[in-house]
Amino acid sequence: MFEDSVVNQVAGEFELDAAQLRSLVDLFLSEMDAGLQNNGKGMAMIPTFVSNLPTGDEQGTFLAVDLGGTNLRVCSVKLLGNGKYSMEQRKVGVSQELMNGSCEELFKYIALQIRTFLDLHHRDELASQELTVLKLGFTFSFPVEQLSINEGILLRWTKGFNIPEAVGKDVCKLLQTQIDNISLPVKVAALVNDTVGTLMARCYTNPDPSTTVLGAIFGTGTNGAYVENRAKIQACPAARKGDGPSMVVNTEWGGFDNSLTALPDTAYDQELDRLTNNSGSQMFEKRVSGMFLGEILRIAYNAISFRCKEAVLTAFSEPWSVDTALLSVAASDGSSELEELQRFLTNQYAVGRLPIENLRAIKVLSTAIGKRSARLAAAAIAGVLIKYTSPFKKDDFVSLGDLDIGLDGSLAEFFPNYEGYIRESLKEIPAVASLSCRITMGIAKDGSGVGAALIASTTV
Ligand code: ADP
Ligand code: MG
Repeated sequence: MFEDSVVNQVAGEFELDAAQLRSLVDLFLSEMDAGLQNNGKGMAMIPTFVSNLPTGDEQGTFLAVDLGGTNLRVCSVKLLGNGKYSMEQRKVGVSQELMNGSCEELFKYIALQIRTFLDLHHRDELASQELTVLKLGFTFSFPVEQLSINEGILLRWTKGFNIPEAVGKDVCKLLQTQIDNISLPVKVAALVNDTVGTLMARCYTNPDPSTTVLGAIFGTGTNGAYVENRAKIQACPAARKGDGPSMVVNTEWGGFDNSLTALPDTAYDQELDRLTNNSGSQMFEKRVSGMFLGEILRIAYNAISFRCKEAVLTAFSEPWSVDTALLSVAASDGSSELEELQRFLTNQYAVGRLPIENLRAIKVLSTAIGKRSARLAAAAIAGVLIKYTSPFKKDDFVSLGDLDIGLDGSLAEFFPNYEGYIRESLKEIPAVASLSCRITMGIAKDGSGVGAALIASTTV
């Protein structure tokens, strides 16, 4: 039988106190600086060549393709101005074979999906020449070294993709080649990271666009992009030149603290890392994002089973068999018998009736793992806010106005109180708590659709 003391002890290992939070923020700030100087010790801090944030007045029809999470999404966005838009979209899966196959197969598949989409939604406009060439914003959410608005070299794969021959190549060119091979009237106009899209989409729909400073994703992976002073991007002379004082920087914070200087590192985190094909990298992401939290739950639950001398649940016996959606269901079940959770386990995992102690263990662990994720998220958000406001003096904060954050991703959207845990944690960080301006945040959906369209709209 599951013993409460064991369950509480294991769940307790996921607690992250205020002091740890503060050391994470300090390290985050120094890794941001190191990344901007490109001295090899920090996060990637990639300049995005996006320097104009939307005003809300943008108009026109644009295509957007999103690769980098669980699905491939093709959409067209009609920007209507006034912060309004309409959108058509189509989602398809990306098979394991495509994720681990050849470059040509993957990009050809994307081009064919664009063709299907155009046939379904834009056949008439294209036939009547109402639409001639469509500009496409390509949201490609993997680390790339961006060379210009529509050129970027893939640095490495993450999130389960592994096509070695693509590393070192320009992903826009790979896609444009396959588009041209099937003669589609489409130009890959912008390479977009999904976090940048989130930032843009939040700006566009914000009544006061100038307050939005950060786009952050907590979905399959995690990452953030923020508005930086161009002159600070020491590592990239090309990014320092250009119009306007600022440029959006893609932090690639999923790779924060890979040396585990400040991040928590439980036995469960260690086992998870061993099960991945990129051990030792994306260590922040492996403690925060949707791709990994289900697996951490599985490992921790099995550890409790072992200590309490219970057989492992069949549904939990295989690595990666638990989806993070289970954590949201477990953490939000407030009933005493945890019936909702039991029903979900039965329907999704074919689990028979579990003793209440076991159900409670799943709930307690889920809450602890999700809350730790949100607190870690807060450390990253705090780092960015401190960095963004550092040139301002205390007296300027009043004129600085609100600091607004766009959030995206299933965890942020569905894990109960995720945003609340972030806010609570931000209050424990003195340098953020002392900002007298208001911090606002909210879900910005469609970053990879609307955001990508907005970026494509700014290209010539
Ligand atoms: P993507 O990152 O692919 O754009 P999402 O933001 O939907 O897409 O994130 C997908 C990730 O979120 C998956 O790892 C999945 O396990 C997780 N997830 C899906 N549903 C939920 C949920 N209800 N609560 C928490 N996590 C979820
Ligand atoms: Mg997404």
